[in-house]
Amino acid sequence: MKTSIATVSVSGTLRDKLEAIAAAGFDGVEIFEQDFIADEGSPRDVGNMIRDHGLEVTLFQPFRDFEGLPGGLRDKAFDRALRKFDVMQELGTDMVLFCSTVHPQALGGIDRAADDFAQLGELAAERGIRVGYEALAWGRYVNDHRDAWEIVRRADHPNIGVILDSFHTLGRGIDPETIRRIPGDRIFFVQLADAPRIDMDLLYWSRHFRNMPGEGDLPVRDFMRAVTATGYSGPISLEIFNDQFRGSSTRQVARDGHRSLIALMDDVRRAEPALTVDLPQMPARQKPEGVAFIEFASRGEDAQALAAQLGALGFERAGHHRNKRVTLFQQGDIRIVLNEETEGHAAHAWNARGTTVCDIGLATASAADTLARATALGSEPFAQPIGPGELDIPAIRGLSGSVLHFLDDQSGLEGVWQQEFGAGAAVPGAGLTRVDHIAQTMSYEDMLSWTLFYTTLFETEKSPMVDVFDPDGLVRSQVVASPGGDLRITLNGADSHRTLAGSFLAETFGASVQHLAMATEDIFSTLDALIARGFEPLRMPRNYYDDLAARFDIAPDLLERMRERGILYDEDGAARFFQCYSRSFAGGVFFEIVQRLNGYRGYGAANAPFRIAAQKRLRRGKGIPAR
Ligand code: MG
Ligand code: MG
Repeated sequence: MKTSIATVSVSGTLRDKLEAIAAAGFDGVEIFEQDFIADEGSPRDVGNMIRDHGLEVTLFQPFRDFEGLPGGLRDKAFDRALRKFDVMQELGTDMVLFCSTVHPQALGGIDRAADDFAQLGELAAERGIRVGYEALAWGRYVNDHRDAWEIVRRADHPNIGVILDSFHTLGRGIDPETIRRIPGDRIFFVQLADAPRIDMDLLYWSRHFRNMPGEGDLPVRDFMRAVTATGYSGPISLEIFNDQFRGSSTRQVARDGHRSLIALMDDVRRAEPALTVDLPQMPARQKPEGVAFIEFASRGEDAQALAAQLGALGFERAGHHRNKRVTLFQQGDIRIVLNEETEGHAAHAWNARGTTVCDIGLATASAADTLARATALGSEPFAQPIGPGELDIPAIRGLSGSVLHFLDDQSGLEGVWQQEFGAGAAVPGAGLTRVDHIAQTMSYEDMLSWTLFYTTLFETEKSPMVDVFDPDGLVRSQVVASPGGDLRITLNGADSHRTLAGSFLAETFGASVQHLAMATEDIFSTLDALIARGFEPLRMPRNYYDDLAARFDIAPDLLERMRERGILYDEDGAARFFQCYSRSFAGGVFFEIVQRLNGYRGYGAANAPFRIAAQKRLRRGKGIPAR
């Protein structure tokens, strides 16, 4: 399987693009004429530059408005095609994309178009060029791959084939199963793109909102299964027009693209075991089994304040690391590690961002398999020198400078607490039992990268994106969660530094974990125990509770008990949700305590604007008094 990407999919100059594309691991590039015209090099120079990067030119595109033209216009179209063939030969590629015409003077008719392509096939054959015909979703006469295939079939020329593009097929809602009827050797090239489901003009949707397979909502996997079933074995190429990507990190978008292709083809292989997909073996998506630990990097007074906050939250010191200035705090199944080392990853994280979550440990069935899949998808393994008596725990570098460790039972890695920290039995504390969810913040343009990262590595599902209104702007929020809820991550994309999420990003220079939510079976008794230990919940104004009383059927005394403890509420049918927030501490991080009842699956999104407003009031020194 050759992987390829159209140069338009990433930002930068042609040289920047080629560097990033090669570094991400692609085999080839589709060259867009526009890219090419903008470069000062001749077609031959550009071709050489591409090959110098170890890439091949898989396709030259686009050639528009060729077929169905009358008289002199038709002669001109053939003349234009010959000129482009010259460019291709200089560039060093034999494949060109012709997309279905939108020319106002073009005439319809399958046979007319087939005749044009049959004649073009002769000219292409003389030069060893292959012409692929693509049905644009908004083509004037041909907007369906079945019609494009019929034209190619009737043209009946070995140098004329069909090009399939998942956006054009799936964007119009055409059943991808129909692709199985096309012989694989007549499919010359396959382009892939996903897109979020937005009801809008097809052309505009295509030119601005395409994204990587798995980042959107289209059934790209079904499309690719059908393509693979035909026996097609040519390049699989990303053709992504996305306004956000044009402004994003060239390298990150290229890496995401490669990750999406590898994960997609791995899915296809698993779904169609009878087919041979030429792809290195990798373990399947891993089932997350929970959050094993959260590690903070901190120092000095901030570290003391964090330790005090953890104490107020019911955590106890369960052990000290045998070789390092690292303390383990524990309560129920929650382990929080406070790292005050002056060397290594935590020290770097602290230098860059101040007090911050520098490492997350995730429990999986097999830590080794998780590492193998992550690296197959392009993640970089992470390792630090191992001290005496320390375990070698598989880890990778995540996004935004984060590190993820993977722990499992089968290889004894969960024994790390006993072995490295001398930690003993569980600590009941004040009733916090497990990590309910981790809330990560990133700039909006990086959100798709994070979603793709988690959904390709773990068995997780993503929720639709929702808007959260901060008094000073918009934050977009999306949940990635495993079906059983063992791993739940809320991703928050900030557009403006004026939002709470945006100012967190700006002040921490891009830290990701903004809050950590922990579950209790009884939020009232837990909070009473915490408040007795000095915990100060984030208070909500009386108006909030008046509104709750109007929206829900809550007994007045229950409402009053909630108000006294700063508890927020949501419900969804019979499912009910209580939540309470801590004040934020150094680095802008805060904690949340939640109680889910009757299978509540949300995160209290409706409460987010009120929570944010309360946090912002507190930042301005106008908090709500305890009673
Ligand atoms: Mg296309
Ligand atoms: Mg939350």
